[in-house]
Amino acid sequence: MLKVLECMLYEHDLVLVAVSALICVLGCCATTTLLARSLEGPRRHFAGWLTAAAGVFACSVWALHFVAMLAFLPGRAMVYRVDLTALSMVAAFAGALVAFSVALAPDRRRIRVPAGGVVLGLAISGMHYLGVAALSSSASPAFDATTVAASVLVGVGGSTLAVAGMGDLRTLIRRAGVAMSLALAICGLHFTAMAAVTLVPHPVGAGSGSIVGTASLGAAVGGIACLILACSLVAVVIERHLSLRARQELARMRLMSNLAQEVLIVHRDGVVCEVNNAGERLFRAPARHLAGRRLLSLFAEESHAALIRRERCPPAKRRPEEIEIRPVGGTPVAVEISCQTIDHLGRPATVVVLRDLTDRKRNEARIRHLARHDALTDLPNRYDLQERIDLALDHAAREGGQFAVIYIDLDRFKPVNDLYGHAVGDAVLVQVARRIAVDVDLGDTLARIGGDEFIVVQAAAASADRSAALVARMLDSLRQPFTVEGKQIEIGASIGVALYPQDGSTADALLRAADAAMYRAKEGGGGAACFYKVTMNDRLQARLRLGQELAGAVGRGELVLHYQPIVNGITGEVETFEALIRWNHPVRGLVPPVDFIPLAEETGLIGEIGRWVIEAACREAAAWPHPWRVSVNVSPKQFRRTDVCEILAAAIRENGLLPARVVVEVTEGVLIDDAATAVATLQRLRDMGVRVALDDFGTGYSSLSYLQLFKFDKFKIDKSFVRRLGESEDALTLTRTIVNLGHNLGLLVTAEGVETRSQLAILRSLGCDQIQGYLVAKPAPIGSFTPIDRLRTMALFREDVDPASPAQGAGLDAPPDREPVRLGAHV
Ligand code: C2E
Ligand code: MG
Ligand code: MG
Repeated sequence: MLKVLECMLYEHDLVLVAVSALICVLGCCATTTLLARSLEGPRRHFAGWLTAAAGVFACSVWALHFVAMLAFLPGRAMVYRVDLTALSMVAAFAGALVAFSVALAPDRRRIRVPAGGVVLGLAISGMHYLGVAALSSSASPAFDATTVAASVLVGVGGSTLAVAGMGDLRTLIRRAGVAMSLALAICGLHFTAMAAVTLVPHPVGAGSGSIVGTASLGAAVGGIACLILACSLVAVVIERHLSLRARQELARMRLMSNLAQEVLIVHRDGVVCEVNNAGERLFRAPARHLAGRRLLSLFAEESHAALIRRERCPPAKRRPEEIEIRPVGGTPVAVEISCQTIDHLGRPATVVVLRDLTDRKRNEARIRHLARHDALTDLPNRYDLQERIDLALDHAAREGGQFAVIYIDLDRFKPVNDLYGHAVGDAVLVQVARRIAVDVDLGDTLARIGGDEFIVVQAAAASADRSAALVARMLDSLRQPFTVEGKQIEIGASIGVALYPQDGSTADALLRAADAAMYRAKEGGGGAACFYKVTMNDRLQARLRLGQELAGAVGRGELVLHYQPIVNGITGEVETFEALIRWNHPVRGLVPPVDFIPLAEETGLIGEIGRWVIEAACREAAAWPHPWRVSVNVSPKQFRRTDVCEILAAAIRENGLLPARVVVEVTEGVLIDDAATAVATLQRLRDMGVRVALDDFGTGYSSLSYLQLFKFDKFKIDKSFVRRLGESEDALTLTRTIVNLGHNLGLLVTAEGVETRSQLAILRSLGCDQIQGYLVAKPAPIGSFTPIDRLRTMALFREDVDPASPAQGAGLDAPPDREPVRLGAHV
């Protein structure tokens, strides 16, 4: 070290040394800027920028060497051999080119740092010692081997440091670091090497080959120094352009990605370049700490396989998929992952998108639960009950043994509703459910199947006595008064019991038998229980008689269609009329469909009745003064047993109706059993141009899976949800969830059973697309819906949402911004 200092201080002109170092530093800065450009520009320009960088670097080494040689005993006349002088430049250029190519190779193998460093160090050493050898015409150099080795080591060391920094040249500081390492390698090597050499001068001309004098060399070095200065200037311009463009591009990209809800991670070759705000939240670290880390290091090991599998998948086959990931130290998150190749600052990179599915999963689970449970009491509903009885049947058939189906119908419940209102009625029902739940055993099922009807499936009813004991407990507890809002309410119950296997071998038969027994208990004045006996089938007889009468109803022209308008949720304009059948019975008067459609399904009459409905609805709709849509209900058995498509196609053709004016309403029941055939039929309807709606949404089996099987045009929220709107925050949340679900799936959402202004206000504020209910109009013959009714309806919708309405009171947001609605565009 001392030797080197002595050599510099006593054997060099320090001004020229400073000039040489300045040229070298400028050249190294220009080299690093050009290298950074090669990384950030398009890949096809990579080789060009790399060659330019190697050229500038070679000139820098060369200029430093020869200016420093001029500084070395400046008074002495020196001549250089042209061939070796030129060769020294070629060595510096070729070596630098190879070293830079290795250092910036995209595969990022660890070997690149030592390999690139050694090649670059040797290139600088080669240039230097060839340059010294070129002096052989005017002096004989003598070398000290140890100091020579030290000089090469300094060159290789500085170069390795520089190559290590070349992995990331995105910031000015990093680029400056690399430039300084390069300058250190060149200057360090040169001045150490000069301490290793002793020149013994001899007369000029003693050597061989062409020679060049100090003056010519000075001119050449001056020219090269100017070239380096020019390159440095260009580099400064590039630098400014680069950082400005990069900053603008990055700022734009960050803004865009931070607007996204999803987690976005941009990585190149598995090394993270960018993470957006959502990613910072997921990984609980600022983006600047995440950048530069390996992608996999952000995730717990169990997530690695899925991430690697995706990365290996060919881009064309990459579909978004659901996986569960666990950020290091975090809890598992269900996400949808998708990857996309993007252009990131001019070079290809991969963006990994993680969409948090936690909310969606929660909503799905909630709606699935909802579909199988009664919203008021949270007990299993009719559909869930059916499945549980089927399970009990399977179990009993396998293991032997018996079980009981117990039908509970409350006495004097209707007057409670009429007298005190629905809210009190609902509170009583909730208390009833709680009391029965206390009476039953752990393995029993308690379900609510209708207004005031509950079913218990007593799983281990080893004897009729056990059922009798349970029934006695229930009668007793339901006889006790209920207290709601300070009011004492006394009701009671009528209970019917059917036992498997003696009273029926299917869920339907057992429920019918328990119903008949309950009916007998009720006939006796209520407050009592009956076990089913075969003689109790009077009710069944009555149903049979009704079935026979129904058989001739079509022929006798006793069926009529009433229509209920479905209006636009924003304007109140009528868009569709739903056709609702009534049976004009000569004795019983107008019989509602709930009293005869199930019977028609059981007896097979549904085919004939369904055909009549479709034909009548199409015929009448064709004669309407406005092209409103007509909506027809098709029950599951009708859908399965008859060719709805053919009947509908014929009716549409014969009446010259536009298919788009017809809507078919089906319930999820059509998809149970043979979903594939049902979906094919629905698709045929769609292909005909007919719209398809899912009726009574939220009351069926597992609604969500069916929504994925076929893309309905709309779904209709069942009136049981609408009725409870405004009564509880929970009902509001559920309805909002359902509306959002529909909109997320791209479906229109209709609310049925809207009876009050406050329900209307809430549904409109939730963005419900269509409204149907008694508030607008009750079902009636089409002629009774007059233009005045239309105006009245629209006036209802023009009124502002009452600020004191439950929608506002419940803290709802303002109605969402929606596209203006085209009238008649809805289904
Ligand atoms: P749906 O298709 O869900 O029809 C809506 C029912 O809700 C109708 O009962 C309608 O009168 C009633 N409704 C409408 N607005 C309100 C309201 O604000 N409050 C209340 N409480 N109820 C309202 P409807 O006419 O008794 O029909 C009952 C069900 O019978 C229908 O339910 C549908 O599933 C079935 N149905 C009706 N007509 C036909 C038909 O032609 N064919 C078949 N297969 N089924 C039909
Ligand atoms: Mg309907
Ligand atoms: Mg409905």
